[in-house]
Amino acid sequence: MYNITYCTVKVKKKMLEYKKDYFGYVYLWYDHKRKMYYLGGHYGSVDDSYICSSVHMLRAYKKRPQDFKMRILKYVEDDKSLLLEQEQRYLDMMDNTKLSTPKNRRTNTVRYYNVKKSATGGKESRLKYRKFNCAYCGCLSTTKEEDRKYCQAECYYKDKKGWPAQNKGSTHTQKTKDIISQKNKGKRPWNKGLPNPQAAENGRKGAKKQSEVVTGRKRQYRDDGTWFWVYPDRKKD
Ligand SMILES: [Zn+2]
Repeated sequence: MYNITYCTVKVKKKMLEYKKDYFGYVYLWYDHKRKMYYLGGHYGSVDDSYICSSVHMLRAYKKRPQDFKMRILKYVEDDKSLLLEQEQRYLDMMDNTKLSTPKNRRTNTVRYYNVKKSATGGKESRLKYRKFNCAYCGCLSTTKEEDRKYCQAECYYKDKKGWPAQNKGSTHTQKTKDIISQKNKGKRPWNKGLPNPQAAENGRKGAKKQSEVVTGRKRQYRDDGTWFWVYPDRKKD
């Protein structure tokens, strides 16, 4: 068993044409920041939106695509079994102690995003990601949803002019709050420069105060059927 080393990977320099020169390929991603590799196969064009079939790698890739580089190890002809065979050939070269397994995580030897060494031809993934440009801010994003146009809800609502009532009837758990706060760090708040960013908080305070005032009040009826509120501390006579 020997290791795949990034620098010794042979790369085909000449341009190949999809469905003429090749129908699929075996690829190797390298994450420069974490110094991690992902090896996989894809039955399709090099230029389609396919990234990889590892959910873990995709997650990292979405956060910091600039840290990733892909090399094509092998182009294959129009036969799916050829792709699987080639993918397996490269997978077999991988070091078992560097796979993303719980055991390897414990011993801190993980160097691959790959968990198993079984060729899938890129098909096992339930998630098909595609790249797209946000229709509002124009940033490059990745999604598995077919009809998605915006990178985040903020852009959607900004494009549709105006936010709806926020989180009506629901509250975030502390964990969700932490995640949101972490995600938003360093981002320009959507309401920066707009009047009264405290509106929501003020509304909440007002509602709380109102609720305190009205707690314990009782309806008192007059003889003619009309009624008025009677508050616990300041009784109306
Ligand atoms: Zn956007």
